[in-house]
Amino acid sequence: MIATARLINVGLSDALRPTAGSPQLRPLILLRLETSDGLSGHGEAAPLEAYDGISTERALAALERHQMVLKGRPGPTDPSELREAVAACVTADPLPQALAAVDMALWDLIGRRSGLSVHELLGASDPSPIPLNATIGAVAPAEAAAEAAAAHEAGFEALKVKVGTPDDRQRLKAVREAVGPDMLIRADANGAWDRLTAPERLRALARFDIELFEEPVHGLEVTEALARGLPDVAVSLDESASAALAHGARRLCSALCLKVSASGGISGLIADAARARELGYEVYIASTLDGPLGIAAALHAAAVVRPDRHCGLATLGRFDRPVPTALQPTNGLIRAPAGPGLGDRLLNWY
Ligand SMILES: [Mg+2]
Repeated sequence: MIATARLINVGLSDALRPTAGSPQLRPLILLRLETSDGLSGHGEAAPLEAYDGISTERALAALERHQMVLKGRPGPTDPSELREAVAACVTADPLPQALAAVDMALWDLIGRRSGLSVHELLGASDPSPIPLNATIGAVAPAEAAAEAAAAHEAGFEALKVKVGTPDDRQRLKAVREAVGPDMLIRADANGAWDRLTAPERLRALARFDIELFEEPVHGLEVTEALARGLPDVAVSLDESASAALAHGARRLCSALCLKVSASGGISGLIADAARARELGYEVYIASTLDGPLGIAAALHAAAVVRPDRHCGLATLGRFDRPVPTALQPTNGLIRAPAGPGLGDRLLNWY
């Protein structure tokens, strides 16, 4: 296989820029694998340095090592050959964000060779639609309320609201008032609190009927202590989910948020979900501002994993370009795209 990686910078929509008019680009790496008989498969690396600490340069360096490994190999014809190719790449560089692109592109290749979609290859021939949450940033309360009302109107049953700023209480109050009592509201602090501040913050915000507090604090011990101290409040790990799985001795909180990028692809995500459930966690899936290939990959994995809670995969609207038709949410749901491979008409976006 010949592998080529291309870095692209995708603009984010105006509303999400830190200040109006300032440029904000999200770098993504598109990986193309080509076999000697003319087939091609595509994957995407989506490191997000502000979130996972992995720079674009680090991911490109890992993919260069993976390119050397793949060079001597024929395209895989079945999942066992895929696993061998991914294992060889792990030996060359275990960076999950780069392995995700390789794994995705290999699944896409097998699908294109066989004419099947990735979810069919994974054994989910008639996948259920995946319930998604809409996401609201740490914006002013009035703006948050308007976005929440729009998501409610569009049919979403769940919202994720960013917290960790001084106006959290006002934002959640405004959102709850805008959507009424039935909508699920998840609060994501991205680790903004610590051992001392978190219990009081969670207690104060729980009165807005919060479905789940996502990564209220960074770190395993402190999360476990927090979750134990507040048994009526559900807590999940996102940034620390991989560490919780590596720790692996016991369940530390209610749920883990898994991502194609952090898990090293579709295969890794399915394995991580199985491991998480063995430990007693609920699981759900989200994106790290992935492009269409990453979102499609997560949806194919979700067809098998069948997440326990709403998933954060309705994120393509945050970019300044049209969302591919197959990945547009309808009433807060998206189905895994039809094949072959990861899905058709996803590449024009890049
Ligand atoms: Mg999060």
